[in-house]
Amino acid sequence: MLLPRVLGEQDARRKSHMRDRMSLDEHWFSEAFEAEGMAFSLRITDKLHDEQTPYQRIQVYQTSHWGRLMVIDGCIMLTDRDNFLYHEMMSHPGLFTHDNPREVLIIGGGDCGTLREVLRHPGVTRAVQVDIDAGVTEAARQFFPELTQANDDQRAELRFEDGLQYIAAAGDASFDVVIVDSTDPVGIAEGLFGASFLRGVHRVLRPGGLVVQQSESPLLHSEGIIRDLHTALSEAGFSSRATLPFPVPSYPSGWWSCTIAGRERDVHNFRETAARAAAFPTQYYTAGIHYGALHPPAFCRAVFND
Ligand code: SAM
Repeated sequence: MLLPRVLGEQDARRKSHMRDRMSLDEHWFSEAFEAEGMAFSLRITDKLHDEQTPYQRIQVYQTSHWGRLMVIDGCIMLTDRDNFLYHEMMSHPGLFTHDNPREVLIIGGGDCGTLREVLRHPGVTRAVQVDIDAGVTEAARQFFPELTQANDDQRAELRFEDGLQYIAAAGDASFDVVIVDSTDPVGIAEGLFGASFLRGVHRVLRPGGLVVQQSESPLLHSEGIIRDLHTALSEAGFSSRATLPFPVPSYPSGWWSCTIAGRERDVHNFRETAARAAAFPTQYYTAGIHYGALHPPAFCRAVFND
């Protein structure tokens, strides 16, 4: 009686091993990272959208197991299945670090997932989103409606222009929190990681304000992009800085980060009681996750804190 069951288990193991070794064909979307010698793939069942805007190429696919997938210039932006990890960590740690966030500016973020999370905070009175490309928001409206569900909130203001120019023209001390939810630091987004832009962000923040910047992979970019970002933030006047790691399976290495920096504000503590009592649902963010993320792994500790 035992034998067939044991054989069944072995068979299942063998089958799963065979699956691991199958080669990928046109039914898979793959993002390859040449410099790292690695790639990430999702099985796709349909291409829903393919558009070249004046700024970038936007594609949307239906996948077999991850819901819909948005790709910009060949890079995965989000999937239905795991975008909550990124959007919650781009918004809640920053908003629970600030003492009383009322006016929030999002640079980039055209899929509107970060905007939706920001607007969950009842104390926020105004959230301005500035993305260079209206095509991203239109694709999100059409294919990811759950992300754009807060766009009609009276507190939301959607603008389509270059974030660099918006910051250059914005008034002094006009926001409490600035969230830079950009694509990777190349092409149109490159300037959003530089000291000159961040000096502008510092000026636009009220004292006690803070900036939250998407800061790429702890595993791949600690010694490059993340270290350089800390240097640029320091040059821009942000004396307190912390990089918080979190998982995003569909991003390079499966591990991502946001960097929070304060204008006359220590970012290593947060409103923990308020975070514990938050009156809105989250799927990843908790006060405990926030606390843990402020204590990064040993290998990147020296880079991740001021
Ligand atoms: N972290 C996500 C990722 O890279 O996978 C970011 C997603 S969000 C869709 C990034 C947005 O940044 C895009 O919609 C893009 O149009 C916007 N963006 C890039 N450069 C920008 C700039 N200079 N000003 C405003 N928005 C910009």
